[in-house]
Order: sequence, then C-alpha cells, then structure tokens
Amino acid sequence: MDFELPENIRLMRDTVRRFVKKELEPVSQKVEEEEKIPEGIVQKMRELGLFGLSIPEEYGGMGLNTLGECVLNEEFGSANACFRSRFGTNNGIGSQGILIDGTPSQKQKYLPRIASGEWTAAFALTEPNAGSDAANIQTKGVRKGDVYLLNGLKHFITNGDIANVVTVMAVTDKEKGTRGVTAFIVEKTFPGFSIGKIDRKMGIHGNNTAELVFEDCQVPAENIIGGVEGKGFVTAMKVLEKGRITISAACVGTAQYLLDLSIAHSKQRVQFGKPICVNQAIQWMLADMAISIYAGRQMVYHAAWCRDQKQRVIQQAAMCKVFCTEMLNRTADAALQVHGGMGYMKESPIERVYRDVRITRIFEGTSEVQRMVVARELLKD
Ligand SMILES: Cc1cc2nc3c(=O)[nH]c(=O)nc-3n(C[C@H](O)[C@H](O)[C@H](O)COP(=O)(O)OP(=O)(O)OC[C@H]3O[C@@H](n4cnc5c(N)ncnc54)[C@H](O)[C@@H]3O)c2cc1C
Repeated sequence: MDFELPENIRLMRDTVRRFVKKELEPVSQKVEEEEKIPEGIVQKMRELGLFGLSIPEEYGGMGLNTLGECVLNEEFGSANACFRSRFGTNNGIGSQGILIDGTPSQKQKYLPRIASGEWTAAFALTEPNAGSDAANIQTKGVRKGDVYLLNGLKHFITNGDIANVVTVMAVTDKEKGTRGVTAFIVEKTFPGFSIGKIDRKMGIHGNNTAELVFEDCQVPAENIIGGVEGKGFVTAMKVLEKGRITISAACVGTAQYLLDLSIAHSKQRVQFGKPICVNQAIQWMLADMAISIYAGRQMVYHAAWCRDQKQRVIQQAAMCKVFCTEMLNRTADAALQVHGGMGYMKESPIERVYRDVRITRIFEGTSEVQRMVVARELLKD
C-alpha cells in the first residue's frame, strides 16, 4: 500500500492552499455580510481552473480524478462555504450527468464552457413533493415533434438563479417508474424556462438556491442526456454517488479548520490563571475532533481511490457522507464550546461555520437516506 499522494495532486493542493489563504479567507466574513461573492473573486477562481477540476483536459478542465478533487476540496475548509458552492456545481452535479452519460456532441458543446466557468451549471432533481423520495418527481416531459415540452417545478436548486445550463430530471413515461425518468440538458434561454423564488437560508450566504419553473419549456430532443429516454434516474444516482464522496472531503477540510481554530484559541485564552488547554475537558474535545477527522479523511481517500479504480462505491459513498457530515456537525458544536461566548458572536468565524455546516446532513441525500443505502447493500442477496 502507498499512502503518498501523487505529485501532481500535491502541487495543485499547494497552489490552491495559497489561493485560499490569500484570496478567499480574508474576504470570507465580508462575503457573509454582503451575501454576495465579488465578481473579481469569481474571475480569479476561473483563472485558477476551479470550475473545471474534475472535467477532462480534452474539454478544457484539469482532469483530476476523484482523489485529486477530494484533496483540493479539503483546502476550501478555511474559507466561506459559498465559494465551493459557487464552482462546485460545475465540477459536480451540474456537469457530471453530461460527462458520465452524455453523447460526444453534448460533451463537446457544454463541457468546455462549464470547465472554464464561462457558464454556471446546476442540477435539478428535487421538487416540493419529491425530496428524499426522488423517484416521485412530477415534472413531465412530453415529446412534440423535435422538442420535448417540460412542465413542472423544481426547488432548492443550488446556483439555480445564475445557471446557464441545468440537468433536469423529468418523467417521460409514468407507467415505467424510475425507468420512465429522463435527464434533459436545459439552457436558461430555452422558451418556457424561468426562475421562481430565491430562498432565504440559514447559511451559505453568498450563494443561492432557487425554484426553477418549466411552463411548456421547449427542449430539443437532442438534449436528452445520452440520447435515450428513461435513463435519467440512473444518471442522477451516478452523479450523486460521486458528490457524496467529494462533499465528505469538504467536510473533512472544514472540520480540520475548526480544530485548528480551537487549538489556537485554547492556547491563548486564559481562565483561572492558565490557558484553557491545560484542562482535560478541553483536551478531550480537541482529541475527539482530531480522532474523527483522521477517520473521516481515510474513509474519503479510500472511497475516492476505489472510485478511481472503477469499483462500485455506492455503499462507501453513503458511508462517507453519513460519517463525515455528522462528524463535522459534532466538531462545529465542540469548536463553539471551546470558544465559549466568543464562538457565538458574529465576529467569530465559528458562528458562520456552525450554521453553514448544518446543511451537509441534508443535501445530496439526508443522513437517513444514506443509512438506508448502506443497509440495503448489507441486506441484499
Ligand atoms: C441548501 C440546499 C441546496 C440544495 N441543492 C439542491 C440541488 O442543487 N439540486 C437538487 O435537486 N436538490 C437540492 N437540494 C434538495 C435536497 O437534496 C433535499 O432537500 C434533500 O434531498 C431532502 O429532501 P427534503 O428537503 O424534501 O426532505 P424530506 O424528504 O421531506 O425529508 C424530511 C425528513 O424525513 C426523513 N425521511 C424521509 N424519508 C424517510 C425514510 N423513508 N426513512 C427515514 N427518514 C426519512 C429525511 O431524512 C429528513 O430527515 C438542496 C437543498 C438545500 C437545503
């Protein structure tokens, strides 16, 4: 076994680490207050290639494998979570359907613009009556000549308000259950597409989720991902499987940031005439954080490596998502405790991170859904 990271990943990690320290960390609190990422920062993220980390070089991306993407995702842990959300949909849920199951011409047409960050990509599966029960989506796609007419409503769509292109799951044959779901590539300029309500959220300010409205939205038949009806649900599940590993990596990075802040604070905060870190109660909180971060990191790297070896990782991906998201939420709670009242104040990054991390146990499949996946794999013949 070789636990050394490949050199190209280490070099890229060092570049990203410098960028995060120099460009993103200093403006993280300002972005939270203004609820907007300055365009100049988005442009710098484009120039660094962050929008195309996981997209192959032939389409203008960096061509990183899952392990490489995970290692880089960790580096964003010390910056406002909205930065990763901003470019994350281009690397993850917004591009992967096209990359994994798209036709050669779909890849040629869309991936270069997504990889460069010229276009923002999103993924629309969830609907008001179909969240965890994603198979229950009601958005319909009906063929009329050379186009499909899409009708329905998607909600909570990350980057939905700014996306140029969206992978949209719709039912084309309701008799066939999940085999009647088709994935469409929808451009924001297609007639009948509009943006509905933009959500006000608990955290990840600076990055929006939105409703997407489809009213006789005209989508050319050639924009069915892979060109075949009925493959959309399988495509969606493949997309989410990868996302569960890369989100877990981001959780490890954020937990590490919280631990680093907690160590520093516990050494400099003096109570009863001594730094608080001399107390065993504080030391155990730090130790528990470090132990679970170590476990989470190994799980993520292993699952990423397995995926890169083309192994089936549905169970590992779900295990990583449960463990790392719940580990991060526990770590945020402990970090706030170590910081005392100061951790509760808006001037401390802990207050923001504490709110931001809560969503990780919900989006791209809740903890309960992940446990269902793990159990299903355990119990099948
Ligand atoms: C900030 C944010 C960003 C998002 N981005 C996107 C996006 O880009 N694209 C997209 O398509 N969606 C997106 N979503 C939607 C997200 O994936 C869903 O919110 C999530 O899958 C849960 O669905 P739900 O909110 O409808 O909760 P529900 O499904 O209503 O679940 C409510 C609770 O019931 C539990 N539950 C449900 N069924 C069971 C069961 N059988 N057994 C045990 N417990 C169960 C759940 O685990 C949860 O605790 C986003 C959501 C948020 C909040």
